[in-house]
Amino acid sequence: MAVVETVRGAIDSRDLGFTLMHEHIFVLSPEIQQNFRTEFGDEDARIADAVSRLNQLATAGIDTIVDLTVVGLGRFIPRIQTIASQVHLNIIVATGLYTYNDVPFYFQNRGPKTLIGGEEPLVEMFVRDIEEGIEGTGVKAGILKCATDSPGVTRGVERVLRAVAVAHRLTGVPISTHSYAFGRTGIDQLGIFEKEGVDVTRVVIGHCGDSNDVGYLRELADTGCYLGMDRFGFDLRLPFEERVATVVKMCELGYSANMVLSQDASCHNDWLDDAVVASKMPRWDYFHLSNDVIPELRRRGVTQGQIDEMTIDNPRKIFEANSRY
Ligand SMILES: [Zn+2]
Repeated sequence: MAVVETVRGAIDSRDLGFTLMHEHIFVLSPEIQQNFRTEFGDEDARIADAVSRLNQLATAGIDTIVDLTVVGLGRFIPRIQTIASQVHLNIIVATGLYTYNDVPFYFQNRGPKTLIGGEEPLVEMFVRDIEEGIEGTGVKAGILKCATDSPGVTRGVERVLRAVAVAHRLTGVPISTHSYAFGRTGIDQLGIFEKEGVDVTRVVIGHCGDSNDVGYLRELADTGCYLGMDRFGFDLRLPFEERVATVVKMCELGYSANMVLSQDASCHNDWLDDAVVASKMPRWDYFHLSNDVIPELRRRGVTQGQIDEMTIDNPRKIFEANSRY
Protein backbone atom coordinates (compact mmCIF):
# COMPACT_ATOMS: atom_id res chain seq x y z
CA MET A 1 0.00 0.00 0.00
CA ALA A 2 0.92 3.66 -0.27
CA VAL A 3 -0.56 6.95 0.80
CA VAL A 4 -2.21 8.84 -2.09
CA GLU A 5 -3.28 12.47 -1.78
CA THR A 6 -6.80 13.40 -2.87
CA VAL A 7 -8.78 16.64 -2.61
CA ARG A 8 -10.37 15.36 0.62
CA GLY A 9 -7.05 14.20 2.06
CA ALA A 10 -4.78 11.17 2.03
CA ILE A 11 -6.16 7.72 1.25
CA ASP A 12 -4.73 4.20 1.08
CA SER A 13 -3.79 3.19 -2.48
CA ARG A 14 -5.91 0.04 -1.99
CA ASP A 15 -8.96 2.30 -1.93
CA LEU A 16 -8.31 3.88 -5.36
CA GLY A 17 -10.41 1.22 -7.07
CA PHE A 18 -11.58 1.87 -10.64
CA THR A 19 -9.56 4.93 -11.63
CA LEU A 20 -9.92 7.26 -14.61
CA MET A 21 -6.33 8.43 -15.03
CA HIS A 22 -6.86 11.44 -17.30
CA GLU A 23 -9.94 13.61 -16.90
CA HIS A 24 -10.75 17.24 -16.09
CA ILE A 25 -13.54 18.84 -14.11
CA PHE A 26 -13.16 22.25 -15.76
CA VAL A 27 -10.74 23.47 -18.44
CA LEU A 28 -10.84 27.27 -18.37
CA SER A 29 -9.00 30.33 -19.64
CA PRO A 30 -8.70 32.42 -16.45
CA GLU A 31 -8.27 35.84 -18.09
CA ILE A 32 -11.29 35.26 -20.32
CA GLN A 33 -13.26 34.07 -17.31
CA GLN A 34 -12.28 37.12 -15.25
CA ASN A 35 -13.17 39.61 -17.97
CA PHE A 36 -16.02 37.90 -19.82
CA ARG A 37 -17.93 36.26 -17.04
CA THR A 38 -20.99 35.21 -18.98
CA GLU A 39 -18.97 32.40 -20.60
CA PHE A 40 -18.97 30.29 -17.43
CA GLY A 41 -22.43 31.33 -16.36
CA ASP A 42 -23.74 30.83 -12.85
CA GLU A 43 -21.11 29.49 -10.47
CA ASP A 44 -23.59 27.55 -8.31
CA ALA A 45 -25.20 25.96 -11.37
CA ARG A 46 -21.80 24.86 -12.73
CA ILE A 47 -20.86 23.36 -9.36
CA ALA A 48 -24.22 21.57 -9.07
CA ASP A 49 -23.79 20.20 -12.60
CA ALA A 50 -20.30 18.88 -11.80
CA VAL A 51 -21.52 17.32 -8.53
CA SER A 52 -24.37 15.62 -10.35
CA ARG A 53 -22.14 14.23 -13.13
CA LEU A 54 -19.48 13.00 -10.70
CA ASN A 55 -22.05 11.32 -8.46
CA GLN A 56 -23.53 9.58 -11.51
CA LEU A 57 -20.01 8.45 -12.31
CA ALA A 58 -19.63 7.05 -8.80
CA THR A 59 -22.95 5.21 -9.25
CA ALA A 60 -21.54 3.76 -12.50
CA GLY A 61 -18.75 2.18 -10.47
CA ILE A 62 -15.92 4.68 -10.83
CA ASP A 63 -14.03 5.16 -7.55
CA THR A 64 -11.40 7.76 -8.47
CA ILE A 65 -10.76 10.39 -11.11
CA VAL A 66 -7.45 12.11 -11.76
CA ASP A 67 -8.08 15.75 -12.70
CA LEU A 68 -5.01 16.72 -14.73
CA THR A 69 -5.88 20.42 -14.79
CA VAL A 70 -2.75 22.45 -14.07
CA VAL A 71 -1.56 26.02 -14.61
CA GLY A 72 -2.30 26.77 -18.27
CA LEU A 73 -5.64 24.93 -18.05
CA GLY A 74 -7.27 27.13 -15.41
CA ARG A 75 -6.65 25.14 -12.23
CA PHE A 76 -8.64 26.60 -9.30
CA ILE A 77 -8.63 24.28 -6.31
CA PRO A 78 -11.17 26.07 -4.02
CA ARG A 79 -13.92 25.32 -6.57
CA ILE A 80 -12.76 21.70 -6.85
CA GLN A 81 -12.84 21.41 -3.03
CA THR A 82 -16.47 22.58 -2.99
CA ILE A 83 -17.30 19.88 -5.53
CA ALA A 84 -15.23 17.17 -3.83
CA SER A 85 -17.05 17.72 -0.53
CA GLN A 86 -20.34 16.70 -2.23
CA VAL A 87 -19.29 13.68 -4.30
CA HIS A 88 -18.81 10.00 -3.55
CA LEU A 89 -15.56 9.45 -5.37
CA ASN A 90 -11.92 10.40 -4.93
CA ILE A 91 -10.48 13.30 -6.91
CA ILE A 92 -6.71 13.46 -7.33
CA VAL A 93 -5.37 16.81 -8.54
CA ALA A 94 -2.16 17.65 -10.34
CA THR A 95 0.63 20.17 -10.41
CA GLY A 96 2.67 21.10 -13.45
CA LEU A 97 2.42 23.46 -16.37
CA TYR A 98 0.58 23.10 -19.66
CA THR A 99 2.11 24.75 -22.71
CA TYR A 100 2.85 23.70 -26.29
CA ASN A 101 5.38 26.49 -26.91
CA ASP A 102 6.80 28.99 -24.43
CA VAL A 103 6.56 29.15 -20.68
CA PRO A 104 4.18 31.93 -19.53
CA PHE A 105 5.75 35.41 -19.36
CA TYR A 106 5.80 35.15 -15.57
CA PHE A 107 8.61 32.60 -15.89
CA GLN A 108 10.49 34.01 -18.88
CA ASN A 109 12.68 36.33 -16.81
CA ARG A 110 13.00 34.03 -13.82
CA GLY A 111 15.26 31.01 -13.50
CA PRO A 112 18.61 29.88 -14.90
CA LYS A 113 19.82 31.70 -18.05
CA THR A 114 17.15 34.42 -17.74
CA LEU A 115 17.32 38.15 -17.00
CA ILE A 116 16.73 37.83 -13.27
CA GLY A 117 18.29 34.39 -12.98
CA GLY A 118 18.11 32.30 -9.82
CA GLU A 119 16.86 28.79 -9.24
CA GLU A 120 14.20 27.23 -11.50
CA PRO A 121 10.98 28.56 -9.94
CA LEU A 122 8.88 25.81 -11.56
CA VAL A 123 10.55 23.12 -9.47
CA GLU A 124 9.94 24.98 -6.22
CA MET A 125 6.28 25.60 -7.12
CA PHE A 126 5.64 21.98 -8.11
CA VAL A 127 7.33 20.60 -4.98
CA ARG A 128 5.39 23.00 -2.75
CA ASP A 129 2.08 21.92 -4.34
CA ILE A 130 2.97 18.28 -3.64
CA GLU A 131 4.53 18.55 -0.19
CA GLU A 132 2.87 21.54 1.49
CA GLY A 133 -0.35 21.82 -0.48
CA ILE A 134 -1.80 24.19 -3.03
CA GLU A 135 -1.97 27.83 -1.94
CA GLY A 136 -3.60 27.61 1.48
CA THR A 137 -6.21 24.99 0.54
CA GLY A 138 -4.46 22.13 2.32
CA VAL A 139 -4.96 20.07 -0.86
CA LYS A 140 -1.80 18.32 -2.03
CA ALA A 141 -1.14 17.50 -5.68
CA GLY A 142 -0.79 13.76 -6.29
CA ILE A 143 0.69 13.77 -9.79
CA LEU A 144 2.83 15.91 -12.12
CA LYS A 145 1.66 17.01 -15.58
CA CYS A 146 3.38 18.49 -18.62
CA ALA A 147 2.65 18.72 -22.33
CA THR A 148 4.27 18.40 -25.74
CA ASP A 149 2.12 18.99 -28.81
CA SER A 150 2.71 19.46 -32.55
CA PRO A 151 5.50 22.08 -32.14
CA GLY A 152 7.56 19.36 -30.43
CA VAL A 153 10.06 19.94 -27.64
CA THR A 154 10.45 23.73 -27.87
CA ARG A 155 12.72 25.56 -25.40
CA GLY A 156 9.75 26.33 -23.16
CA VAL A 157 8.43 22.77 -23.29
CA GLU A 158 11.87 21.35 -22.53
CA ARG A 159 12.15 23.63 -19.52
CA VAL A 160 8.81 22.36 -18.18
CA LEU A 161 9.64 18.68 -18.85
CA ARG A 162 12.97 19.03 -17.04
CA ALA A 163 11.36 20.82 -14.07
CA VAL A 164 8.69 18.11 -13.87
CA ALA A 165 11.41 15.44 -13.93
CA VAL A 166 13.34 17.12 -11.10
CA ALA A 167 10.18 17.59 -9.00
CA HIS A 168 9.23 13.94 -9.63
CA ARG A 169 12.57 12.69 -8.32
CA LEU A 170 12.40 15.02 -5.30
CA THR A 171 8.86 13.99 -4.33
CA GLY A 172 8.24 10.53 -5.81
CA VAL A 173 4.82 11.38 -7.33
CA PRO A 174 4.18 10.00 -10.83
CA ILE A 175 4.34 11.94 -14.10
CA SER A 176 1.49 12.12 -16.61
CA THR A 177 1.84 13.90 -19.93
CA HIS A 178 -0.14 15.33 -22.80
CA SER A 179 1.55 14.19 -26.00
CA TYR A 180 0.87 14.59 -29.71
CA ALA A 181 0.67 11.01 -30.88
CA PHE A 182 0.78 11.79 -34.64
CA GLY A 183 4.12 13.52 -34.11
CA ARG A 184 5.37 10.61 -31.96
CA THR A 185 6.22 13.17 -29.27
CA GLY A 186 5.97 10.54 -26.52
CA ILE A 187 9.41 9.34 -27.64
CA ASP A 188 10.80 12.88 -27.30
CA GLN A 189 9.29 13.23 -23.82
CA LEU A 190 10.89 9.99 -22.66
CA GLY A 191 14.22 11.18 -24.10
CA ILE A 192 14.18 14.31 -21.91
CA PHE A 193 13.04 12.35 -18.86
CA GLU A 194 15.84 9.83 -19.34
CA LYS A 195 18.40 12.64 -19.53
CA GLU A 196 17.05 13.82 -16.16
CA GLY A 197 17.46 10.34 -14.68
CA VAL A 198 13.74 9.50 -14.56
CA ASP A 199 12.70 5.85 -14.27
CA VAL A 200 10.24 5.80 -17.16
CA THR A 201 8.15 3.08 -15.52
CA ARG A 202 6.90 5.99 -13.38
CA VAL A 203 5.56 7.89 -16.39
CA VAL A 204 2.22 7.83 -18.23
CA ILE A 205 2.52 9.11 -21.80
CA GLY A 206 -0.89 10.63 -22.38
CA HIS A 207 -3.07 10.59 -25.49
CA CYS A 208 -1.39 7.53 -26.99
CA GLY A 209 -4.95 6.46 -27.77
CA ASP A 210 -5.10 9.17 -30.46
CA SER A 211 -2.83 6.88 -32.50
CA ASN A 212 -3.49 3.54 -34.17
CA ASP A 213 0.20 3.16 -35.06
CA VAL A 214 0.90 -0.05 -33.18
CA GLY A 215 4.61 0.19 -34.04
CA TYR A 216 4.87 3.54 -32.26
CA LEU A 217 2.82 2.33 -29.29
CA ARG A 218 4.97 -0.79 -28.89
CA GLU A 219 8.14 1.26 -29.11
CA LEU A 220 6.86 3.37 -26.22
CA ALA A 221 5.52 0.47 -24.17
CA ASP A 222 8.74 -1.51 -24.55
CA THR A 223 10.52 1.19 -22.53
CA GLY A 224 8.28 0.23 -19.61
CA CYS A 225 6.21 3.42 -19.48
CA TYR A 226 2.42 3.48 -19.38
CA LEU A 227 0.32 4.47 -22.38
CA GLY A 228 -2.70 6.66 -21.80
CA MET A 229 -5.46 5.29 -24.04
CA ASP A 230 -7.25 8.22 -22.59
CA ARG A 231 -9.29 10.14 -25.13
CA PHE A 232 -12.23 7.83 -25.77
CA GLY A 233 -15.01 9.98 -27.16
CA PHE A 234 -12.70 12.53 -28.81
CA ASP A 235 -13.79 11.06 -32.11
CA LEU A 236 -12.81 14.00 -34.33
CA ARG A 237 -9.19 13.03 -33.65
CA LEU A 238 -9.64 9.26 -34.00
CA PRO A 239 -12.99 7.45 -34.27
CA PHE A 240 -14.34 5.05 -31.65
CA GLU A 241 -13.84 2.02 -33.88
CA GLU A 242 -10.12 2.68 -34.33
CA ARG A 243 -9.56 3.57 -30.67
CA VAL A 244 -11.16 0.31 -29.57
CA ALA A 245 -9.40 -1.79 -32.22
CA THR A 246 -6.02 -0.41 -31.12
CA VAL A 247 -6.58 -1.33 -27.47
CA VAL A 248 -7.77 -4.80 -28.51
CA LYS A 249 -4.64 -5.27 -30.65
CA MET A 250 -2.32 -4.06 -27.87
CA CYS A 251 -4.03 -6.46 -25.42
CA GLU A 252 -3.53 -9.33 -27.89
CA LEU A 253 0.15 -8.38 -28.09
CA GLY A 254 0.43 -8.59 -24.30
CA TYR A 255 0.49 -4.90 -23.38
CA SER A 256 -2.45 -4.69 -20.96
CA ALA A 257 0.07 -4.14 -18.15
CA ASN A 258 1.14 -0.91 -19.87
CA MET A 259 -2.18 0.76 -20.61
CA VAL A 260 -4.63 2.92 -18.70
CA LEU A 261 -8.07 3.89 -20.01
CA SER A 262 -9.69 7.31 -19.72
CA GLN A 263 -11.55 9.99 -21.69
CA ASP A 264 -9.98 13.44 -21.17
CA ALA A 265 -13.55 14.67 -20.71
CA SER A 266 -14.73 17.58 -18.58
CA CYS A 267 -17.92 19.16 -17.27
CA HIS A 268 -17.08 22.33 -19.15
CA ASN A 269 -14.12 23.22 -21.36
CA ASP A 270 -14.06 26.84 -22.56
CA TRP A 271 -11.64 25.96 -25.40
CA LEU A 272 -14.60 24.36 -27.13
CA ASP A 273 -18.22 25.29 -27.54
CA ASP A 274 -20.47 22.98 -25.50
CA ALA A 275 -23.02 22.84 -28.36
CA VAL A 276 -20.36 21.87 -30.91
CA VAL A 277 -19.04 19.13 -28.63
CA ALA A 278 -22.58 17.84 -28.15
CA SER A 279 -23.25 17.72 -31.90
CA LYS A 280 -19.86 16.55 -33.23
CA MET A 281 -18.63 14.34 -30.35
CA PRO A 282 -21.80 13.38 -28.48
CA ARG A 283 -20.19 10.52 -26.57
CA TRP A 284 -17.23 12.56 -25.25
CA ASP A 285 -18.19 12.50 -21.59
CA TYR A 286 -17.32 10.75 -18.31
CA PHE A 287 -19.60 7.80 -19.07
CA HIS A 288 -18.43 6.67 -22.51
CA LEU A 289 -15.90 4.19 -21.12
CA SER A 290 -18.43 2.38 -18.92
CA ASN A 291 -21.35 2.63 -21.35
CA ASP A 292 -19.69 1.86 -24.69
CA VAL A 293 -15.95 1.21 -24.61
CA ILE A 294 -15.64 -1.53 -21.99
CA PRO A 295 -18.64 -3.52 -23.30
CA GLU A 296 -17.12 -3.33 -26.81
CA LEU A 297 -13.67 -4.41 -25.56
CA ARG A 298 -15.32 -7.41 -23.87
CA ARG A 299 -17.20 -8.32 -27.06
CA ARG A 300 -13.91 -8.35 -28.91
CA GLY A 301 -12.23 -10.72 -26.51
CA VAL A 302 -10.48 -8.48 -24.00
CA THR A 303 -10.84 -10.38 -20.73
CA GLN A 304 -12.24 -9.00 -17.49
CA GLY A 305 -8.78 -9.57 -16.02
CA GLN A 306 -7.23 -7.29 -18.66
CA ILE A 307 -9.94 -4.66 -18.13
CA ASP A 308 -9.32 -4.72 -14.38
CA GLU A 309 -5.60 -4.45 -15.03
CA MET A 310 -6.03 -1.30 -17.15
CA THR A 311 -8.60 0.37 -14.89
CA ILE A 312 -7.69 -0.78 -11.35
CA ASP A 313 -4.29 -2.49 -11.05
CA ASN A 314 -2.20 -0.24 -13.30
CA PRO A 315 -3.46 3.02 -11.72
CA ARG A 316 -2.76 1.58 -8.29
CA LYS A 317 0.78 0.55 -9.31
CA ILE A 318 1.38 4.02 -10.78
CA PHE A 319 0.53 5.67 -7.45
CA GLU A 320 2.22 3.01 -5.31
CA ALA A 321 5.62 3.56 -6.96
CA ASN A 322 6.27 6.64 -4.85
CA SER A 323 9.89 6.49 -3.70
CA ARG A 324 12.14 9.55 -4.08
CA TYR A 325 15.40 8.96 -5.89
ZN1 LIG B 1 -6.28 16.41 -20.62
